[in-house]
Amino acid sequence: MAKIETMKTGVTIEVIQGDITALEADGIVNAANSGLQGGGGVDGAIHRAAGPGLLAECRAIAARQGPCPAGEAVVSAGYNLRCKKIIHTVGPVWRGGGSGEAGRLGSCYRKSLLLAHQEGLESLAFPNISTGVYGYPKKPAAEIAVQAVKAALPEAPGITRVLFVCFDAENYRLYQSLLESP
Ligand code: ADP
Repeated sequence: MAKIETMKTGVTIEVIQGDITALEADGIVNAANSGLQGGGGVDGAIHRAAGPGLLAECRAIAARQGPCPAGEAVVSAGYNLRCKKIIHTVGPVWRGGGSGEAGRLGSCYRKSLLLAHQEGLESLAFPNISTGVYGYPKKPAAEIAVQAVKAALPEAPGITRVLFVCFDAENYRLYQSLLESP
């Protein structure tokens, strides 16, 4: 069952468990690496489902502007996914918490949301950035995700629906309980 919270502003925030590549939304966020070369985890799944055009575009972006730093976001077309655009953001690698990880993780959510708004998207689906291979502890990562999205929404008024797509049960439970508390 999806947990749905409707904010005072009319924006809905939903938590679902599943595969983000199967989702229908205007925009899907990818937890990319700085080279934008595709990889494992959700990045690999998105590239496989989108098709080879995505890697070609990502390589062109990286060739044009260099590596994408952690906390930043870039946009590509959606190719074979059921979305208009893919927002590629680079999460921080967890190094114990004293290396600016929290700020960079919050920035991933904030910049992705602002970029989606600039692109004219109305709905945006996020995976649980950095909580796989990059090792960010799931609870603080979920707290940062929810807080950063709520804080950035007033600056992205075109966005009316945000989805947190949790792959594993632990993240799903964490997000559900975070959105239950005021
Ligand atoms: P990172 O390198 O940012 O940690 P990962 O892809 O390793 O990226 O993991 C990020 C999160 O994405 C993890 O919580 C992982 O379980 C989840 N994930 C992996 N595959 C998918 C998928 N197909 N759809 C949604 N989430 C996924």
